[in-house]
Amino acid sequence: MTYYEYIGNMHMHTPYSDGEGTHREIADAAIKTKLDFVIVTDHNIWVDHVQGYYGDDQRGYVLLLTGEEIHDRNRLPQVNHCLVYGTQREMSEYAHHPQKLVNAVKEHGGLSFLAHPFDTQIPWQQDSSAIAWVDWDVTGYTGLEIWNYMSNFKTYLLTPAQTLRHVYQPHKAMIGPSVETLAKWDALLASGQKVVGIGNSDAHGTHFKVGPLQRVIFPYEYLFQCVNTHILPLTPFSGVVADDEALIYQTLHAGRAFISYQLLGSARGFRFTGQGATGSAIMGDSIRIGASGGVTLQVVAPARATIKLIRHGETVAMETNKENLTYVALQPGAYRVEVWKLWQGVERCWILSNPIYVDGR
Ligand SMILES: [Zn+2]
Ligand SMILES: [Zn+2]
Repeated sequence: MTYYEYIGNMHMHTPYSDGEGTHREIADAAIKTKLDFVIVTDHNIWVDHVQGYYGDDQRGYVLLLTGEEIHDRNRLPQVNHCLVYGTQREMSEYAHHPQKLVNAVKEHGGLSFLAHPFDTQIPWQQDSSAIAWVDWDVTGYTGLEIWNYMSNFKTYLLTPAQTLRHVYQPHKAMIGPSVETLAKWDALLASGQKVVGIGNSDAHGTHFKVGPLQRVIFPYEYLFQCVNTHILPLTPFSGVVADDEALIYQTLHAGRAFISYQLLGSARGFRFTGQGATGSAIMGDSIRIGASGGVTLQVVAPARATIKLIRHGETVAMETNKENLTYVALQPGAYRVEVWKLWQGVERCWILSNPIYVDGR
């Protein structure tokens, strides 16, 4: 089967909420960094009439779509941020009730992802608070935001001195996504739930002033080269906004996607597939163990790296300094892949796949 591959970022803000870059500036940053699509997710507002292809023949094009990040403003701290895509209408009227929100999004043909679910407080900043997901009895959401760059970055800011150092050299600080989020993902998968994982920037383009110095910390352009989501649709983008939007959401819904930390190198071409007696599978798919044996899982990494195959939190196979991993799965369960790479002296997370769901006989 041939899959097309598109790279996108699906969580960012403009002045419609607390971001500082306009839709056009975001599109320009996305074109410069060669993203194929971006989804702008302002807090509790669905911004109409901005969707479309931006750019020109010379610079290239990016598809910009509207989504939304919804939470209950009356709840303190303002926990339970939910990313909503594909509803084509304002959904923040359901903000006060996360389960009703998730249900309503589904009824409107949309997708919902629990954003930065294990967000933490910056310990030395009295006024910062942890914006985690707390209502874990909610069901029916599409998936989790496994790697939110900005939320994750906060975990490296343990002291003011460390913060100053890391804000100027974020690439030295960043290692990988929240361990708690990965553990929760594995626990949900182990319980039999299908959970799609995505990775995003949560870019705001915030201006930062220290005396006469002024700079934008974490510009959109920088963050668009960090944590992104790759999708693998079966057909290419057509150039028609509504069609390509539908293709993006179908592919995401199917979990045919993986997350990459692009600063370590392009992850284009990464594949995680399965082959069994009853057929073949790619990330997001289910595949049955045939009567004659198991399912052969195969990982192809774009460069030599450490490849880990994980089932319900347990590493069941690992290769180091290799581009391939092959494993015969005899046990049912959700299998996912992590690829780690030595970069600037530290082993860092490069790629996170969505699971292949291996069903029993
Ligand atoms: Zn948020
Ligand atoms: Zn956000």
